[in-house]
Amino acid sequence: MNALAGLGVIILDEIVPPRAPWSHRVRKGQTLRIIDLEGNQSADFLMYATADDTERYSAQDTIAAQRNVYLREGSMLYSNEGNPMALITGTDVAYHDTIGGACSCESNTLRYGFHTHSHHACVENFLTANLRHGRGKRDMVSNINWFMNVPVEADGTLGIVDGISAPGLHVDLLAQMELTAVVSNCPQINNPCNAFNPTALRMVIAGQM
Ligand SMILES: [Zn+2]
Repeated sequence: MNALAGLGVIILDEIVPPRAPWSHRVRKGQTLRIIDLEGNQSADFLMYATADDTERYSAQDTIAAQRNVYLREGSMLYSNEGNPMALITGTDVAYHDTIGGACSCESNTLRYGFHTHSHHACVENFLTANLRHGRGKRDMVSNINWFMNVPVEADGTLGIVDGISAPGLHVDLLAQMELTAVVSNCPQINNPCNAFNPTALRMVIAGQM
């Protein structure tokens, strides 16, 4: 089956190699489809408003608005100004994470030992991608982890456990404002968020030019 059926006019169709950063403008009314090509690959994700990038994705506002910690089909993603940024119009993964955060050299060292300090991490990817838009470390906020499984237990305990995604599954985001989407194709190899084998993602933007 054509993986892009029903999306309308395809404006952009790109592969993000394993461990790489990516960013692109998404206009209001366009759909961004992220495809987990080989399964269980975390797509760490941020969004910034084009008009004023001090307005950006807010995990806290999104969780509070929907009174649920998981992102699912129908979830509205809110900014720190309380404005809708994007709507999850479809996904074939049961839920996605927005509380597990992005991996960094520092967190790798704390969790997995000093020998992992040199491992490439999502924070470096976010910094690299954001640099193209004039943003720095102060502009990094809590992110979304598409396709990553971070269950919250009844007592509030968090886990990063085996994924619930599979090859070819996707998430569709309908932009509610003009924004820049930023992705780190997560390089983590010390926990199961990428099935210990980082793989490629496919990014598709569709809709009117
Ligand atoms: Zn990562």
